[in-house]
Amino acid sequence: MTRRFRPAWFARPAAALLAAAGLYTAWTQQPPAEPPLTVTRIADDLHVIAGAGGNIGVLTTDEGVILIDDKFERNVDGILEKVKSISSKPIRYVLNTHLHGDHTGGNAKIAALTGAVLFAHANARAVMVEKKMPGLQNITFTSRAAIHLGGKTVEAYYFGRSHTNGDVVYYFPGHKVIHTGDMFAVGGPIVDYSSGGNGREFLGTLGKALELDFETVIPGHGGPVLQKSDLSTFHAELANAQAQISKLIREGKPKDQAKALVHTGEFRMCCKTAMWDRTLPGLWDELSR
Ligand SMILES: [Zn+2]
Repeated sequence: MTRRFRPAWFARPAAALLAAAGLYTAWTQQPPAEPPLTVTRIADDLHVIAGAGGNIGVLTTDEGVILIDDKFERNVDGILEKVKSISSKPIRYVLNTHLHGDHTGGNAKIAALTGAVLFAHANARAVMVEKKMPGLQNITFTSRAAIHLGGKTVEAYYFGRSHTNGDVVYYFPGHKVIHTGDMFAVGGPIVDYSSGGNGREFLGTLGKALELDFETVIPGHGGPVLQKSDLSTFHAELANAQAQISKLIREGKPKDQAKALVHTGEFRMCCKTAMWDRTLPGLWDELSR
């Protein structure tokens, strides 16, 4: 199998479909079609729900279910249906990787329907308060925490700023799996400066995540199930792109030529898609300082 970069949500037929859906929206005011929710098995008790929004990790235990992220509010009915197809137990915790609405949008509705406890990094919750976002978390942490349920554990790590100032890596030690949130979005990254993101620190933060003892990665977008080597590749490619930008800055090249001058054509995991186009100017500014 070739391993050329082609996330499903960026493949050409999907792009054509989205363009068509955009036109359809303009005519009918109907929301554009979303990719359907799908379930991918990692282990009997660990699954990923992909589709619209960020990838959801689903850990099932005898005492209930732990979700990592919960997409948009409009996806909640579909999410609950998928979770029910995996486990008959109630959702007890929703652990957010960061604040964005495609990862926390289901928080309020799921908490109201199930009584689940909402959990995130303190910085993520603070930005949500600032931006008046719904679904605020009940519990926050600052550097390291563990969630125990039904004899199983999920560890939460904060390694520093990257996509935002409150990105959590969730570690499933029993499975040697991590969920990175958008610290690893295939084709990205995006640095959200309005939420405290930092492109310069991004590499160091990713490097700390890579020190965990894991084999399998659930990225924030893409995948939905990748390997540690894919995250290493993403890290190396981002380092390569940053080195190119720094060199161009030293050579006095103008920022508006960044897209043409930074070569990422052979990259497999990083620095593609519209996400990278959004990231480049800010990253250039950061590396110029
Ligand atoms: Zn995000």
